[in-house]
Amino acid sequence: MSDKKNRKNNNRNNNMDEDFNPKFRKVRKKVCPLCADKNLILDFKNADQLKKFISDKGKILPRRATGACAKHQRDITLAVKRARQIAVLPYTQE
Ligand SMILES: [Zn+2]
Repeated sequence: MSDKKNRKNNNRNNNMDEDFNPKFRKVRKKVCPLCADKNLILDFKNADQLKKFISDKGKILPRRATGACAKHQRDITLAVKRARQIAVLPYTQE
């Protein structure tokens, strides 16, 4: 009886492996890239710099992806939107 129970638990634990279950994923605290580097100033003419903050479809990445703080995420959004306006960055990508 107890053997059977143990085996069952083991199976469940194997299925809920660290790699598959997001519950066990190690959480690393993200540091805002703009707070971490004080010398880094967002420039809407610098496409290479802003490309880090947009997806391959050209969308602005959310904070959970960029790791930016609220203040800097607003700056990023503004810079990307300005860059699109002057055709440095695309609005969409096929
Ligand atoms: Zn920041």
